[in-house]
Amino acid sequence: MPVYPPSLARLIAQLTKLPGIGEKTATRLALFLFRAPTELAESLATSILEVKRQIGFCSTCFNLTDEDPCLICRDPSRDVGNLCVVEEVGDLLALEKAGAFRGRYHVLQGVLAPLDGIGPDNLRIKELLSRLDRNPVGEVILALNPSTEGETTAAYLAGLLRNRGIRVSRIAQGIPMGGDLKYTDAVTLKRALEGRRESS
Ligand SMILES: [Zn+2]
Repeated sequence: MPVYPPSLARLIAQLTKLPGIGEKTATRLALFLFRAPTELAESLATSILEVKRQIGFCSTCFNLTDEDPCLICRDPSRDVGNLCVVEEVGDLLALEKAGAFRGRYHVLQGVLAPLDGIGPDNLRIKELLSRLDRNPVGEVILALNPSTEGETTAAYLAGLLRNRGIRVSRIAQGIPMGGDLKYTDAVTLKRALEGRRESS
């Protein structure tokens, strides 16, 4: 690293700890912050601290929230009969952004990955089951990603929930909007055909 004043060098070193930020980008960001108005630096620092101090997980659904339970769990207009199980908070946010689901969620905070040592006890599965015991729902929708780990987790959960007499479904998988059949992989094509429904 070129010889920067120690405080600038410290900022660059801190920024390189962020995901996807290499030394070059960190240096650019640090120099930008140096030139930026003091208010910007202050509000950035305050925002980071606010997130660290105020945001936690909802004790019901494990969404991110600054109040427990979270807004979605508190919202009386949501359909309490449907529970959508997702892998990460980002998946919940994507579904919310799409406005496609009006029930409630449960965030697993990961997927089963035995090779990485992630088993059922590392996910919020216990919490899901006790939640369903307390508040039974008509249907659990598994909205897990179409990865090997997502598939394993969905199969595991489906077995567990069906044993308890709970109706379980999975979101359909298939060709994305704007996709092209001839460039679609075999597994996706097979899933798309399996997930077909009557034409409306
Ligand atoms: Zn919640």
